[in-house]
Amino acid sequence: MRPFLLERFGNASSIHQEGQHARSAVERARADVSRFLGCRPAEIVFTSGGTESDNLAIFGSVNPGDHVLTSTVEHHAVLHAVRKLGERGVEIDVLPVNDQGVLAPDDVRNAIRPNTRLISVMMANNETGILQPVEAIGRIAAEFGIRFHVDAVQAAGKLKLDVDGIGCHLLTISGHKMHAPQGTGALFVRRGTRLEPLFAGGAHERQRRAGTENVAGIVGLGKAAECAMEGLRNGAPERMRSLRDKLESGILQRVTDAGINGGSAPRVANTTNLWFDHLEGEALVIALDLHGLAVSSGAACSSGVSEPSHVLEAMGLSKERARGSLRLSLHRHSSEEEIDQAIQLVSSRVTRLREVSTVMAR
Ligand code: PLP
Repeated sequence: MRPFLLERFGNASSIHQEGQHARSAVERARADVSRFLGCRPAEIVFTSGGTESDNLAIFGSVNPGDHVLTSTVEHHAVLHAVRKLGERGVEIDVLPVNDQGVLAPDDVRNAIRPNTRLISVMMANNETGILQPVEAIGRIAAEFGIRFHVDAVQAAGKLKLDVDGIGCHLLTISGHKMHAPQGTGALFVRRGTRLEPLFAGGAHERQRRAGTENVAGIVGLGKAAECAMEGLRNGAPERMRSLRDKLESGILQRVTDAGINGGSAPRVANTTNLWFDHLEGEALVIALDLHGLAVSSGAACSSGVSEPSHVLEAMGLSKERARGSLRLSLHRHSSEEEIDQAIQLVSSRVTRLREVSTVMAR
């Protein structure tokens, strides 16, 4: 990225040499991201991140009178977009999940109407890491000829992504969840899938996303995709999974009245969401932060809002248990030593905070 931040400022749409240099860097990144998703380079649209990709997929696909299906545990970038469509004359169904946070493909099938235009379901949940059966849903979408969008923001780099295997027409990734810069992302748009662009403007990105390309950011996303493919080949998810499992069992051996949200569901390798009774999650987040452990008590995207997480509530957790839940995530460079420290810190802080609240209650 460095040359494009410090020395080479060509616009990738210009025909002069500086412009063409930028263009070739953008196209190389497009080829890397397309290999990462198992698609053609022309099927990649670069965006400003997961939120824009989700919005482009949803608003770009649906018109008043259409019907859209999604789930209660989606990221707000999907849920709020779908709700907005509801205010504009689109029929919407937000399908429930079970107590393990999983959507049943049969519920999707049973909710399909003659005017169902779009199904939007995430691959991995951002708060719990729980995986949805997207391949099974993709087969249902294909059977009924319905457009299928998958928000794969949290799966990218942790699972091999293959748009044909999933059977989706649209798939979202976000740079900052895979070691690329914040404010970068992409939407896979299957060939032949017509999308109404979000922005009016130039003909960039094959008329699907107007606006001068963020060359440095796109180069960063391409490199991150290349590194993620290398990590997948070299067993990074397996390493993360064994460290994540050690983290969970280490904490649960030391702390009573605690458990894993969605512990019986298939989950992505790097995320855990733990509940602790008799505890305010936000107090724990602050106590851990003071010791250098960065965690969150709800989705990071909605931190600062102290409403219990919509994802945990959708799984049937009480407000108290949802508020007493903590999300920890690892990345592919997390070390054994950091996990040992995290086990020690979380268990000692939980015990201490519970002691304090017992004393205060007296
Ligand atoms: N979708 C999911 C599942 C996410 O976790 C996030 C961000 O955390 C987004 C969408 C939004 O992505 P961005 O922050 O790049 O806009």
